[in-house]
Amino acid sequence: MDVQDARQQLEQMLHELDTATTTLEHEGAGDSAELSHVDQHPGDNASDLVDQDRENALLEAAEGQREQIRAALQRLDDGTFGTCVDCGVAISEARLMVRPEAARCVECQSKAEDAA
Ligand SMILES: [Zn+2]
Repeated sequence: MDVQDARQQLEQMLHELDTATTTLEHEGAGDSAELSHVDQHPGDNASDLVDQDRENALLEAAEGQREQIRAALQRLDDGTFGTCVDCGVAISEARLMVRPEAARCVECQSKAEDAA
């Protein structure tokens, strides 16, 4: 994947996250708040939480996402973008197309998630 494309995509994602969280902070959580880039784990359905908790959860998820994107931009600067931070193998092009902020190869990511 072209690093210039990756950087552009990451910066776009960062911008969208900023817009989404600003909207959230100003209007409160609601059905209109869309955080399309935030991982929504099906098991973490927050529908039973009160609005404030839901808003906080969304903001927290967005902040986590933002950190991943910033780290990926840092790796672009360092020239290590596209290699797994754990095992050092090249992350597949297909994976980076979908998740340019990915820090790990699929294998290490699933290990990291198992450990969490
Ligand atoms: Zn790996």
